[in-house]
Amino acid sequence: MIDLQSLTITSARKKLDAKEFSAVSLAQAYLDEIEKKNESLNAYLEVYGDVIEQATYADNLIAEGKSFPLLGIPLAIKDNILIKGKKVTAASKILGNYIATYDATVIKKLKENGAVFLGRANMDEFAMGGSTENSAFGPTKNPHDISRVAGGSSGGSAAIVAADLALGALGSDTGGSIREPASFCGVVGFKPTYGVVSRYGLMALGSSLDCIGPITKTVEDSQIILEAIKGLDILDSTTIAISLTPSEKAKVIGVPWSVVNMEGVDPKVKENFLSSIEKLKVLGYEIKDISLPNLGLALAIYYIIMPAEASSNLSRFDGIKFGLHVPGKDLIQDYNFTRGQGFGLEVRRRILLGTYVLSSGYYDAYYSKAEKARAILKKEFENAFKEVSLILTPTAPFPAWKIGEKNDPLSVYLADIFTVTANIVGVPAISIPSGVVEVLGKNLPVGIQFMAPQGEDSLLFEVGKIFESK
Ligand code: GLN
Repeated sequence: MIDLQSLTITSARKKLDAKEFSAVSLAQAYLDEIEKKNESLNAYLEVYGDVIEQATYADNLIAEGKSFPLLGIPLAIKDNILIKGKKVTAASKILGNYIATYDATVIKKLKENGAVFLGRANMDEFAMGGSTENSAFGPTKNPHDISRVAGGSSGGSAAIVAADLALGALGSDTGGSIREPASFCGVVGFKPTYGVVSRYGLMALGSSLDCIGPITKTVEDSQIILEAIKGLDILDSTTIAISLTPSEKAKVIGVPWSVVNMEGVDPKVKENFLSSIEKLKVLGYEIKDISLPNLGLALAIYYIIMPAEASSNLSRFDGIKFGLHVPGKDLIQDYNFTRGQGFGLEVRRRILLGTYVLSSGYYDAYYSKAEKARAILKKEFENAFKEVSLILTPTAPFPAWKIGEKNDPLSVYLADIFTVTANIVGVPAISIPSGVVEVLGKNLPVGIQFMAPQGEDSLLFEVGKIFESK
């Protein structure tokens, strides 16, 4: 029996190399665990039929003496990242039967590394949401309390890692979709600097915000996955090359108290945050109050820019080129029927919002104003990072809520208050488990978020490893 609970990517790699178990037996252990738990969690939308075949391939390479960091490591992939020949739906009915025709760059890189793909992870439809309740295929349940959400939009990926249904997972993060579910499920979620990981083969949501990143049990594991998937890519012109070796150590950590103290932050989350700060002080970090005067605008900026870009990106789903086709009496009716029936409520809401803020007459009032505010926020971050190496906030203002509890979209949007800024300004951010808070007799995980300057992703791994070890 392989003890999946204590296993990490790092320890599994050693055990695979030492032939303590084979990639096939490891993959089989995960398949058995998935068989036991997935029906109640709804974290995987599909478990692939060729897992053992993939693991056998990895075992053959191990037998030849090869050892890549992810060789034989079972991973889950969010359902908006393309794997050639496999179904990929973005948890939407409009792509219910869509089969990917090529590999995303991250998949190509993971394949070269010998990773084993277990299946595709549930998510909010087209990554719009913070709870996975917007999946067309039912919500993912939180492994710590199945009456609660797993967070989102990468809720499937986070629940999978938390429930030992894979050693790691890929998620995507446009406004917090890796970090918020990671914090709700008690695992590590990493959003790289914009451009560090190629988005070729990721279904686009907000192209100026979207990032792919890892969800894992440990900070070190996230670093291993990021190392494997990062890099310049001719197929994504926004990509940049960075090194994950830290150039200097982080010493001063800034806290934007005005935002952390805002109304609506759960007092227990705040208490947990304060105890994390104490811990950091004991670890030798200096904590400094920083002012980011326009941070309070981040949510408003995000909920203009993201729907604007989403409405444009999603115009490709017209019922002609991809997926579902509901015929009407003419082309316009084809579009109406297909998009009306294929997209869920939240997706339609954002397409309408986005089309509105981009329409002539409103473009200047909303979209271009949001872009101007974004530029100001970027400047404020640049200035703050002259004084501090990192910025710290809670990851989310409250722990996981009950499924169905938040039925107005605005209250779900508020969960993104601390996470959207990193996407707006393009900086890297990590969510690390910081303990639990008790709600109605259940211990629910919460996380803290560190943000670093652009390209300084390595600082987050450095401080993250120190923080999690204590
Ligand atoms: N919760 C945010 C939203 O609904 C973030 C989504 C994401 O990062 N994909 O837009």
